[in-house]
Amino acid sequence: MADAAQFGDGAAGGGRMSGVKGWCPGAHRPMMAADGLVVRIRPALARLSAQQALSLCDLAQRYGQGYLDLTSRANVQIRGVPPGDHDALLAALAGLGLLDTDPALEARRNILVAPFWQAGDVTHGLSLALLDRLGDLPDLPAKVGFAVDCGPQPCLDAASADIRIERSAHGLILRADGAAAGRAVIEETALPALIDMAHWLAARITSERRRMARVLAQMPLPPEWCDAPALAPAPAPRIGAHHGGALIGAAFGHVDAAALCRVIAAQDLPGIRLTPWRMLLLEGGAPPGDAAFVTDADDPLMRADACPGAPLCPSASVETRVLARALAPHISGTLHVSGCAKGCARQAPADVTLIGRDGRFDMLRRGSAGDTPERCGRHPDDILAEFEHNTLSKTP
Ligand code: SF4
Repeated sequence: MADAAQFGDGAAGGGRMSGVKGWCPGAHRPMMAADGLVVRIRPALARLSAQQALSLCDLAQRYGQGYLDLTSRANVQIRGVPPGDHDALLAALAGLGLLDTDPALEARRNILVAPFWQAGDVTHGLSLALLDRLGDLPDLPAKVGFAVDCGPQPCLDAASADIRIERSAHGLILRADGAAAGRAVIEETALPALIDMAHWLAARITSERRRMARVLAQMPLPPEWCDAPALAPAPAPRIGAHHGGALIGAAFGHVDAAALCRVIAAQDLPGIRLTPWRMLLLEGGAPPGDAAFVTDADDPLMRADACPGAPLCPSASVETRVLARALAPHISGTLHVSGCAKGCARQAPADVTLIGRDGRFDMLRRGSAGDTPERCGRHPDDILAEFEHNTLSKTP
């Protein structure tokens, strides 16, 4: 999956409306979309207390369209905010402890935290410590981020981060994204080593290579920073019961605020955790019987990506999510319905990709939205009919 709204910070449901390359919006610097501002909130430790979550849902209903959009960096967005309400929303977020008063620090707080942390464990402790050291980090492009992922096996491997703290077979390592091995550290040395690596990266970034993996493709790390092999990533997390609670899904990362309030209240949850997987972890909770959420791990909607499309994004000439919902059950692989060739909702190739253009869709198999389409100018009804009647291969 990608990270702007799950794509861009890869937008999980929010389009990258800015034309500024590398620009990454936050609450202080919202994106402007066709339906108003898209305000991104970065909860510390990827957690919202029940009170914060309920209040955030209230704000989404009061100032936005009544939805929270999950991003691929485990952030959350309220969209459709009238520009005149932005200051009031910021004040409310600050009152909930969900806003850095310093916009520069907020911009640096690109920290992915493995959502299964327990209070007092290594992931929790190092995440808190990193929040305290944000001021020691160098200036970096807005999309550069960090992952604290110290469970038995890394679970954030597929999520966007440039510098990662995780485990090897023998202890903690600090690993540059794109490297197969990391630098052995202990809890006391992890943060100084991370800050060293961030400065190393900052000194090598150019306008052409703005992320760690791009830098490593052209120059090696110091040998002592990559002599501890990383562990294989954990299997992709699935919807259902987990240690610490229950994972539930949100189609396209789009969460109905009223439905989330119902779930929190019905289960008297202490809080929820945000993930980069279009899922929420209900702390100590159980899968709810609420149709607003996906509770079947095999639900085809969890294999489908679709950006907001028309009329929400000015770059789109087609609706995306209605077609994606209708098509998903007929496709056994992954599906990407993109409002345009930018492909905000998914960077990785999908088994079937539909790209909106001039009110119709171009189509390709095993590719990305920016690739050359195989078939052009299809009407959505014709595409759906073909998949429904299996006149196109369901697994192209
Ligand atoms: S229509 Fe294009 S620019 Fe807009 S959100 Fe979709 S992919 Fe991104």
